[in-house]
Amino acid sequence: MIIIKLNFGGFVSLSTIDWRGKAVCTLFLRGCPLRCTYCQNETIQTGEDYRDIDEITAMIKTSSPYISGVVFSGGEPAWQKEALIVLARYSKKMDLSVGIQTNGFFPDTLEALIMEGLLDKVAIDYKTTWEGYSGTTEGYNPLAKENYKRNVQKSIGICKKAVENKQLDEFEVVFTIFYENQEYIRQISDKIGDVPLVLQQGEHKIAPMRSATPEMTEGEYICKKQTQQKRHPPLRLNEIKEIADTLKKTVRIRTRDIGEISYNWRHIL
Ligand code: SF4
Repeated sequence: MIIIKLNFGGFVSLSTIDWRGKAVCTLFLRGCPLRCTYCQNETIQTGEDYRDIDEITAMIKTSSPYISGVVFSGGEPAWQKEALIVLARYSKKMDLSVGIQTNGFFPDTLEALIMEGLLDKVAIDYKTTWEGYSGTTEGYNPLAKENYKRNVQKSIGICKKAVENKQLDEFEVVFTIFYENQEYIRQISDKIGDVPLVLQQGEHKIAPMRSATPEMTEGEYICKKQTQQKRHPPLRLNEIKEIADTLKKTVRIRTRDIGEISYNWRHIL
């Protein structure tokens, strides 16, 4: 018998923000081939914390009376294909909906889950021209940069087709938006067509600088982070709405202050 282990990143037993309209538990899978400069989960981009699958299924089981779904997040959950499939099967057996938050780098995993009827929702975090990527690979998948765009486009194609074929209920593309990358959003919006789009307020961090220079003290890190954030403050809600107006489609907007709203560009007509 093959024993499958999971490189564990964390577990939230009850969340009402990871899947609109649902109470879910959220499992974070450790490890990601990318190094986005704004990553909120930098502590689980790397490292090892292998757990037996039974330990993870027990966590889901404990949450099950209070939830209607499970969200797999990370890190990059689709990187641990075998463990993910086992856990998605378990969740389905427990009569729970299954969602995934992914960077789209592993289309084969998405396809396998969809073909087996194990996914209800996919949210792909689209980073397009690598504006959010630090270029630091730290021994992780050096091909990430080269193959990223092709893989993400393949993942989007798989999910769009699955929605058309009614194999997938929900699919959305999430774009983390900054002052510097707003010019790309129109191209992305045109490319993805009528897929629901979420514009998520981005906030600059200097995480890669910290891991690249471990001798930096906590004080120096905070000081550098503040300087960086002052230079590039997050876009405000009104600025994101103005960008959404140029797309001429209804989008969802996420910001730190208001959470998530649906925004209809037609209000300007
Ligand atoms: S893809 Fe997600 S988990 Fe990976 S580095 Fe980027 S933001 Fe972090």
